[in-house]
Amino acid sequence: MTAPLRPGDPTIVNVALGERSYDIVIGRNQIATLGVRAAALRPGAKAAIVTDHTVADLHLAAVEAAFAAGEVLTNRIIVDAGEATKSFAGFERVCEALIDVKAERGDVVVALGGGVVGDLAGFAAATVRRGLDYIQVPTTLLAQVDSSVGGKTAINSRHGKNLIGAFYQPILVAADTSVLDTLPPRQFRAGYAEIVKYALLGDAGFFAWLEANVKEVFAGGAAREHAIATSCRMKASIVARDERESGDRALLNLGHTFAHALEAAAGFSDRLLHGEAVALGMALAAEFSVRIGALAREHAARATRHLAGAGLPVRLGDVTGGVPDADRLMELMSQDKKVRRGKLTLVLLRDIGAAYISRDVDPAPLRAFLVEKLDEQ
Ligand code: NAD
Ligand code: MG
Repeated sequence: MTAPLRPGDPTIVNVALGERSYDIVIGRNQIATLGVRAAALRPGAKAAIVTDHTVADLHLAAVEAAFAAGEVLTNRIIVDAGEATKSFAGFERVCEALIDVKAERGDVVVALGGGVVGDLAGFAAATVRRGLDYIQVPTTLLAQVDSSVGGKTAINSRHGKNLIGAFYQPILVAADTSVLDTLPPRQFRAGYAEIVKYALLGDAGFFAWLEANVKEVFAGGAAREHAIATSCRMKASIVARDERESGDRALLNLGHTFAHALEAAAGFSDRLLHGEAVALGMALAAEFSVRIGALAREHAARATRHLAGAGLPVRLGDVTGGVPDADRLMELMSQDKKVRRGKLTLVLLRDIGAAYISRDVDPAPLRAFLVEKLDEQ
């Protein structure tokens, strides 16, 4: 057997939430440090590792070896990969399995996987025995820059996505950037859309850096780590200001009202991954911002160019299988959690790196805009 790869010095981003503060550890081969980190945080705890079959085949052995190296006992709970697992049935299975393996107060749940496993295992951790500590080990780019940070956990209801859940912060996030080497390119691109989101909503310098370094981010190495760390820093600072989304945290929804409607129209299928919908949603948000006079046309063009250059969809015509008409899209957009008294809330742009929350968007001009965009297809 070859010697395990030695991890280099990681980048550490702290999420400052008082006694619920935690670190996000970012870098290649950081999985190898998991056992030592867990033992330092919770001496004597056992670890119940929740993962899906795809991730288990690729990375579970390394994770178990890392816990063994830190003398932490482990159990494994393996669920099916895919969004359908974020259900009552999936939740019940994970909860019962945690009780079966005798996970007790003081033990830790380890969510090893993408956002599906993170949301599901996090919600199970929030509820089993009224709360077990948990560690996020995100293995998709989307999970590393978004879902593993900030403490939103949930399962889906038949009425919609993420309707049953809890705010419940992890005690550690370990983002091993080398596990992304096994991620299918399409999933990597989808995660990249969320990175572009952070740049567009709050950091023009980061956007320019992404324009110059997008190839290197996709290739791995230091640029990938920098992009993930910068994204996590932005999410951490917004979450620290507004943990429960009563204000600024809504900025993180840039592109998402359009995206949720498009994802719902595609039946949350592989036809349109969440990150792809977000890319298209951000392009639409930028163009609508131009339409209402908030954003200069060249800025919207620049945002769209970058997303398209990264291989992401930016036009309604890019969606495989087509999209519904403007009325249906409006209806789906109004089912978004962010509707009050008939007016929609949209996150719009005044500049690259400057988003704002518009809480009373009139439906009529928005509908007219969608009709035009549908005509352009
Ligand atoms: P996912 O968890 O379904 O992962 C995508 C696919 O990649 C799965 O098939 C998985 O098995 C596979 N995979 C994971 N890691 C891999 C690796 N390293 N190599 C190869 N394959 C790998 O999807 P996702 O995009 O990570 O997450 C989407 C979910 O996240 C949605 O349910 C969404 O609601 C949720 N989400 C939550 C938040 C939050 O704040 N909690 C934020 C954004 C998204
Ligand atoms: Mg998102």
